[in-house]
Amino acid sequence: MYTVPKLDDYSPATLDRAISQLESALESERREVQTEDDWKAFRDRWLARKNGILTQLNELWLKGAPPESKKEIGKRINASRPLIENRVESQLNWLRAAVHEIVGSPIGLPIDISLPGIHRPIGVKHPVLRVMDEIVAVFKAMGYSIGEGPEVETDYYNFESLNFPPNHPARDTQDTLFIAAQEQKPARDRLLLRTHTSPVQIRVMELQPPPVRIIIPGKVHRNDPLDATHSPVFHQVEGLAVDTNITFCDLKGTLDHAMKALFGSSVKTRFYPSFFPFTEPSADMQVSCIFCGGKGCRKCKFSGWIELLGCGMVDPNVFEFVKHNGYDSSKVSGFAFGMGVERIAILKYEVEEIQLFYEGDVRFLEQFA
Ligand SMILES: [Zn+2]
Repeated sequence: MYTVPKLDDYSPATLDRAISQLESALESERREVQTEDDWKAFRDRWLARKNGILTQLNELWLKGAPPESKKEIGKRINASRPLIENRVESQLNWLRAAVHEIVGSPIGLPIDISLPGIHRPIGVKHPVLRVMDEIVAVFKAMGYSIGEGPEVETDYYNFESLNFPPNHPARDTQDTLFIAAQEQKPARDRLLLRTHTSPVQIRVMELQPPPVRIIIPGKVHRNDPLDATHSPVFHQVEGLAVDTNITFCDLKGTLDHAMKALFGSSVKTRFYPSFFPFTEPSADMQVSCIFCGGKGCRKCKFSGWIELLGCGMVDPNVFEFVKHNGYDSSKVSGFAFGMGVERIAILKYEVEEIQLFYEGDVRFLEQFA
């Protein structure tokens, strides 16, 4: 049976060895626990305040350590504490579940077959994925196919080929998460976490000559602290249509139809001039407030409208990068748009804070079951 050893020295290697011995002893003793009495003995052996193993660690390792090692050893012991507590607690849960579930279980306790079984709720799609799938379905019904691209992108696809000028603020580490230690690489080859799904536009056009109708769902990353409306990781759906004679009118008609499909047929859309490096002209699209129908309420800041996505006609400079594949801006034109999935989910489900989507709290998530 395991006993807490005295440490010969306090080097990191010795500590590593001692901690890993401790953890494997915990694991093998845990497996021996078959009854609730076993479990009580197991709990006391590891956690009893008077002479439990956790207490002994403090007595034998921490108190005997020279002053300069105390901090490190205290840290190691504190790091083991939650593991021990968690193993002890989960073993009891496991025992109780096993008693209820396994007829003729090795535990040898009486089984009350009149007890209700353990209800395991069936999982459902996460609300963010559900909204993403809904958006994709709306465009699939209009003949769009689905495109995908890597989340770790090069500067070339994320910025350069999308016409971002060299000193654009988005290229700064303030806004973008770059992979470390790439200073020797030429700027265009440097890797980063994509800040939008737009690089997939270029990847698709490199592979496929026009016409193109593509919808691109995916995860994107920004160097933003988490607050009520921002998260460093979120989801976007990007769209791109390129063909002969595509006009701004097609863009408006397509998005207006999509919004009605998502929010109901009474929703109106309007377009405001905006700026994105890869579209010209660019627009912000707003929808009539889905809460007050346009009359004005707190959610729409009493304007009657809610800003929902960015869009525009593909900038001819972007086509230059894929000209070799048939994208001659004198012959083809196109539009592109991109929307934040969480933003739409927040509106659809009236969620107050974006964090709720990522915390994995079942009380929140089961509302969508
Ligand atoms: Zn409103």
